[in-house]
Amino acid sequence: MFGRKAAEKLDNTAAALHRVGGKAGDAVANAVIAPVRNQINTGCTRCANGKCRKHG
Ligand SMILES: [Zn+2]
Repeated sequence: MFGRKAAEKLDNTAAALHRVGGKAGDAVANAVIAPVRNQINTGCTRCANGKCRKHG
């Protein structure tokens, strides 16, 4: 149902929320994005792109 493209969008959205909202943004991401993201069986796309701050 969801593929890598969707995962990429979700990861980027979560990162944007964090950038804009900080902890509140993270809370929104965890509530809204994480449940969907967890259904996609693919690694963090931002790590793959080398621009992830969450996982170093
Ligand atoms: Zn990552």
